[in-house]
Amino acid sequence: VIGVEEQRIAVLGLGRSGLSAARALREGGAHPICWDDNEAARDIAAGEGFKVSDLSRQGAFDDIALLVTSPGIPHLYPEPNRVIAAALAAGVPVDNDIGLFFRSFAAQGFDEFDTPPRVVAVTGSNGKSTTSALIHHVLSEAGRASQLAGNIGRGVLDIDPPEDGGVVVLELSSYQTELARALTPDVAVFTNLSPDHLDRHGGMGGYFAAKRRLFSEGGPDRAVIGVDEAEGRFLANQLSVGPSDDRVIRISSGTKLTGPGWQVFARKGFLSEYRKGRQAGSIDLREIKGLPGAHNHQNACAAYAACRALGLAPRVIEAGFASFGGLPHRSQLIAEQNGVSFVNDSKATNVDSAARALMAYGRIRWICGGLQKEGGLAGLAPGLANVVKAYVIGREAAAFALDLGETETEICTTMERAVARAMEEAEPGDCVLLAPAAASFDQYDNFEQRGDDFTARVRANLG
Ligand code: ADP
Repeated sequence: VIGVEEQRIAVLGLGRSGLSAARALREGGAHPICWDDNEAARDIAAGEGFKVSDLSRQGAFDDIALLVTSPGIPHLYPEPNRVIAAALAAGVPVDNDIGLFFRSFAAQGFDEFDTPPRVVAVTGSNGKSTTSALIHHVLSEAGRASQLAGNIGRGVLDIDPPEDGGVVVLELSSYQTELARALTPDVAVFTNLSPDHLDRHGGMGGYFAAKRRLFSEGGPDRAVIGVDEAEGRFLANQLSVGPSDDRVIRISSGTKLTGPGWQVFARKGFLSEYRKGRQAGSIDLREIKGLPGAHNHQNACAAYAACRALGLAPRVIEAGFASFGGLPHRSQLIAEQNGVSFVNDSKATNVDSAARALMAYGRIRWICGGLQKEGGLAGLAPGLANVVKAYVIGREAAAFALDLGETETEICTTMERAVARAMEEAEPGDCVLLAPAAASFDQYDNFEQRGDDFTARVRANLG
């Protein structure tokens, strides 16, 4: 981190990103003062020689230049965090590792490079990880030095020094974008917007505001924006100087985009790129095994557009897509036996992503349920037609099942029972799909553990 010499900087939250921020600050010559409510986390920081001091005590911010927080710490909702509130009251600016990264990265100058390093930042409600990983994969396959960091993979302050022509691909959650004091990517991607995490942003307005921060302050050279929702259309319009301005690349899954600008859309399994009214590229996505379903076609459009913005040719991008294996827990094909396929989409933690998953497959035996999010299950309606039967898990399985209306349901509560029952009843042509439409915390540590449990039980039952 540049420009922090001799400054006393408070670090709140000592998980992966907090510790890496503390290390980077120390390397930059600052004096980090660390705190976490969790004693074990404090011990780790102390073990690395960091000063640990209670930041909620009176006067803790008297002599502090900056507070750096972690994305896991809610700062305003459901109630103001008292340490952050104390910093704000003392007039101390608040930042996070993403803000520190952009401040340092932008400050570097890169005069020694023929092709300066670029940063691509991906945000949105769903598809961030898939889109980021896909961009990184295409770049790597094309021989461009690429590093993947942020919400996925490594902490941003842990990445290697950039190379000539290199690209840093950052996945950014709304928790990360809302607090970062500097956000200056070269290419910014906004995939889509659906009501998720509303509790922490105080409603949809705050949530959208957090995401769109990526596009303010001078703005990126190129903005890739999903225009399937009103918010995306609004953002794209605001950023364009005129209709043919190609600073904005509009993307859609399902709608043929027309107009003189730059646009990439997927329809009936085909991706098309138009620029200034002329077709500039196309890909048959039905051939791409790692990207099933219309939702993944949206991710493909976003990744394609970002890679085009970085100067890659359509054929090069297509070759990268063809070798993309997908990410675990997202539309992940676990097994196929006797005509039945088993898909792990444990990452479908909200209604919108689960509805997308339901629309991507045919006759579905659907394992769902868990900790419900605000907003109810009405958003599932477009996908329910494909569901033969729902096997409901979770502590509140009965309430969840009730909300599914006409759909045939069985209350299974545990994954063990749900998998066993779905497999007993499955017929050739069926897809046994885990896409819970709910968080996992009532029964699991996280969605990965839930997906692993599903996978292990499917494999055990298949023998
Ligand atoms: P994120 O990082 O934004 O959570 P992921 O790529 O991890 O996104 O996907 C999260 C979940 O959302 C998965 O269950 C996946 O099947 C679903 N999904 C992926 N892409 C999209 C999309 N473009 N629109 C809606 N749902 C999606």
